Amino acid sequence: MSAGMLEAVITQLDRVAERLRLDPGLHKRLRHADRSLVVSVPFETDDGRMEVFQGYRVQHDNALGPTKGGVRYHPEVTLEETTALAMLMTWKCALMGLPYGGAKGGVRCDPQQLSRRELERMTRRYTAEIFLIIGPEYDIPAPDMGTDEQIMAWMMDTYSMHRGMTVPGVVTGKPILLGGSLGRREATGRGVSYMVLEAAKKRGWHFKELTVAVQGFGNVGSVTARLLAEEGCRVIAVSDRKGGIYNPKGLDIARLLLEYQEKGGGTVSNYREGDRLTQQELLTLDCDVLIPAALGGQLTAANASAVRARMIAEGANAPITPDADEILREKKILVLPDILANAGGVTVSYFEWVQDLQFYFWNEREINARLKEIMTAAFNHVWDYADEEGVDLRTAALMLAVKRLAEAKGLRGLYP
Ligand code: NAD
Repeated sequence: MSAGMLEAVITQLDRVAERLRLDPGLHKRLRHADRSLVVSVPFETDDGRMEVFQGYRVQHDNALGPTKGGVRYHPEVTLEETTALAMLMTWKCALMGLPYGGAKGGVRCDPQQLSRRELERMTRRYTAEIFLIIGPEYDIPAPDMGTDEQIMAWMMDTYSMHRGMTVPGVVTGKPILLGGSLGRREATGRGVSYMVLEAAKKRGWHFKELTVAVQGFGNVGSVTARLLAEEGCRVIAVSDRKGGIYNPKGLDIARLLLEYQEKGGGTVSNYREGDRLTQQELLTLDCDVLIPAALGGQLTAANASAVRARMIAEGANAPITPDADEILREKKILVLPDILANAGGVTVSYFEWVQDLQFYFWNEREINARLKEIMTAAFNHVWDYADEEGVDLRTAALMLAVKRLAEAKGLRGLYP
């Protein structure tokens, strides 16, 4: 699956390079990561044993600025997957016009099997292992699947201890008290919801009539579901790793969230006001908008032809394989690609980093307004370019990103 994701990301790049008649040398450079670090992460478990996990940090390209990207804790993390996700970050930052290159990190582990103290020890050791290549001017980690604000706080503290001073700008997605930004926690889901609404407007669909299904009820999925419900859309199904819940009349997302939080996570599938459904049933549900917001590779050649949604917004990174993409294109399903749809997180991470560097903080209204402005401009740019070039939105978004990178790399030249 993960080697497949890297292959898929490189195949997309190759297609776009051909379409853009990209200089072969530049194309070759973009197919490779600048720097990949593989580390072992030893730590002591609560019962006094030694555990060792494998960790990674990959910096794909820094032509436009320091690299930026999340840290994933998941049992399926591999070097290949981390590299693929770092590449997607390069395209995403370039597309959004942010002064960053792409990076990604991860530890191959199941965070749910670790106690809080084990998680802290493991996170601190991982941070110490990648210390040499991260920093506010080099590479700035952020949360991704399986990591959160607390983990960012431990990373920031560990880095700061090594530097002998407090360095809030080394990570984003921190708690507000430690230099985090207002609006960051919700930014990715907020961005996904903006993109869905913009696309609906272009298609002339009324928000209040839209039915929505969301796979994944973590940071991205739960916020997207809540904000779309607040806009009047009918969220008819949501799921998490343990299963899903379906109610054709619409789920009360605010109540579901309250119950979910009260039970310290739990699972949405225990919610009583609906029927249980499987991941596959959710992905192929009869609805207007499908939002995969969990893992990569969820829509494949095996299930894409059964998709009945009219629009798919990629909350997760790479949830659709290239084969599935082809099938969805033939079925005329509108796909809002990850590098656009879920770019709200890195955009507000950029705001957080700027605020940290200046030690001057903005209010939430300002942050959300700037997020909307940047995302809507990117959306329109991609939409119009797709029209001009006669291509789908994914191809258009990637073409715009690669053009920008090629220009920057051309201006900088090759060292030495
Ligand atoms: P999270 O850990 O907060 O939530 C993940 C959710 O997915 C959980 O509800 C989990 O139960 C569910 N899940 C896990 N395995 C599943 C499975 N097999 N089937 C269905 N659900 C499953 O993670 P997140 O931060 O919300 O990230 C979700 C996706 O969005 C990832 O692909 C991530 O790379 C991407 N993303 C996140 C951000 C961000 O700011 N957090 C930004 C951009 C992209």
